[in-house]
Amino acid sequence: MKKANIYLLLVSLFFILSCKDNDLKIITVTGEIPASKMGITLTHEHVLVDFAMIDSITPNRYNKDSVISKVLPFFEELKPYKVATFVDCTPEYLGRDPQLLAELSRKTGINILTNTGWYAADNNRHIPKEINNMSPEEIATIWIDEAKNVIGNTGIKPGFIKIGMSNVELSETDKKLVAAACLTHLETGLTIVSHTGPGEAALAQLKILNIYGVDPSAFIWAHAMGEPSNTKLVNIAQSGAWLSFDEVREDMESQIRVNYLIQLMKSMRQLNRVLISHDAGWYQPDKPNGGIIHPYTAIFESLTLLLLSEGSTREDIDQLLIKNPAEAFAVRIRKIVK
Ligand SMILES: [Zn+2]
Repeated sequence: MKKANIYLLLVSLFFILSCKDNDLKIITVTGEIPASKMGITLTHEHVLVDFAMIDSITPNRYNKDSVISKVLPFFEELKPYKVATFVDCTPEYLGRDPQLLAELSRKTGINILTNTGWYAADNNRHIPKEINNMSPEEIATIWIDEAKNVIGNTGIKPGFIKIGMSNVELSETDKKLVAAACLTHLETGLTIVSHTGPGEAALAQLKILNIYGVDPSAFIWAHAMGEPSNTKLVNIAQSGAWLSFDEVREDMESQIRVNYLIQLMKSMRQLNRVLISHDAGWYQPDKPNGGIIHPYTAIFESLTLLLLSEGSTREDIDQLLIKNPAEAFAVRIRKIVK
């Protein structure tokens, strides 16, 4: 091939690739935004969680205005840290309320993502009993409908898939949820966030992804910081899945743990597979005035300083809070390339 032709080929390839990148979008409760506008993002938080039994759970159990006035100051605390996006990980039957999130987003100017999917952790207390007679395809049909159309009559679309399981060895229900999440991903391009116990359970889920041909980069292992084996953590990161170190709390113990894990991942060149967040908030309707709200600021108030003092750079922190979230949540179908 002539030099000029090679040059033309490279230029058009670059153009195609950069166009593709510009097209990537994030789906928030108030509409789509380009992934490049996601900004500083908290990838695993909760506005409200309702632990009521599935039969009695309903938005009538709380007053939306009271929730908003209670949670609003905690969102205001994020402004000085320029947090632009907040991923709400409360699934259906555990208090998901897209309209509440949309109102909060409009009031604060912070983008919020909600989800589709079901949660089998907590002994299946928050999952419809009909699941026993449903196939993964039937479950996926419900989730895909929410993604392609909207959630109920809210006019709001989910920005990711949330599933949850706490068993070391996956139950039949757990396996169905993962399979349904794969089918939904292949149809919608939404990322799968899985509340998972230990690494064994994450590996078992990744095997199911493999069967369905879904690339591990479409999978976020939530609560990965509970896994004690560095080898398992590194291996799963190297497979391409995301590790979510999402229990950064005010206490130094959790921050020392996350700092350790981040330095480990950096030394293994896996920082591009890591997400961090607080798993905080938690207005609980069954507690007086919603109970204690946990703030969303420990990362900015102290973890960042700890990371910088332990060898992380500003670029590392931007990667964790800006680059990785946009990459993880940008909507696109991720199939295994064979
Ligand atoms: Zn959570």
